[in-house]
Amino acid sequence: MVNNKALSPIKQQIIDGDIDWSFTKEWLNSNDQDVPCSAKLSKRQGNRIKKCNFIYPTIDIQQRNYPRLYPLGSIPCIECTSARDDNTHVGLCKEHSIHIKNILMRAAHDLHEFIIENTKEGNFTLKDTIMNLPLFNTSFVDVLPQSHPGYLLIHHLVPSDLVKIFNIYINDKKLRFSLFLKFFSTLMSSIDTIIWTRRASLVKHWEHTLSITKNKKRFYRKRHKKRAPPSPDPGAPVHNSPPRRHYNPQHLTTTPYYRDGGFNDNLAHIRWTTSNYLHSGHWTTYRDNMGFNNIDLFLTLQNSFLKNVFDII
Ligand SMILES: [Zn+2]
Repeated sequence: MVNNKALSPIKQQIIDGDIDWSFTKEWLNSNDQDVPCSAKLSKRQGNRIKKCNFIYPTIDIQQRNYPRLYPLGSIPCIECTSARDDNTHVGLCKEHSIHIKNILMRAAHDLHEFIIENTKEGNFTLKDTIMNLPLFNTSFVDVLPQSHPGYLLIHHLVPSDLVKIFNIYINDKKLRFSLFLKFFSTLMSSIDTIIWTRRASLVKHWEHTLSITKNKKRFYRKRHKKRAPPSPDPGAPVHNSPPRRHYNPQHLTTTPYYRDGGFNDNLAHIRWTTSNYLHSGHWTTYRDNMGFNNIDLFLTLQNSFLKNVFDII
């Protein structure tokens, strides 16, 4: 997993054991809907998986997938305009800093109240234990440090710090998981609203100024396949020529779904993502364990997740 380039922003945290994988898995699989399967649930779970894998369709990924719709070159973050808009930047943006401080302070307070409400014994050390956790340290200046456990939280990964509190104060394992999910879903909902959704609406507004619409993305491949430039080899059939793409080579190393020359046909990516992806001993096996080791979950997510990965949103 530590060799996965997409996860390089959290490589050190993975090595240091700052992420609790069993609680992260619980969170990724959790269902807060009334029904066991629904399009809404699939989309929600798919979004969590994309965020924690650093493959959420930030502008760099959209630009890679729709090179004829987006401006060429490195596109800066819509909020701070001083860094490239990619998954790594979400949470590290200076415009997110104050929001993250507020979220963490509120979370520390709510966690204290939540544990008190759900435990019988007096917890005299609880407040100090919570406030001494690096997760709730809000003394950082300017921007959230990448090594801060709050960065994991922004990306839907459960910090070991948070699990410590539940392990110490909730003895029953089953109850611990259910209480954790109750607390965590409220916390993540505020992170999604304040960080991800707010950011997405700003991006959408910017796209609107460039006349980049959902419909243009939906029909992009069909439209641009027809307009594909002639093959450099006059003898080669036109339909085999790779789409013209303006990639910045730096982008290639940050996304796990890139294929040199693009996809030759619309089904290639499906074969690629559903064959060795799940069964090989390569790093993807470990990465898949985060969300795809539950085959039922995978089947539920398969349609929406694969579609979303390729940005039909
Ligand atoms: Zn920014």
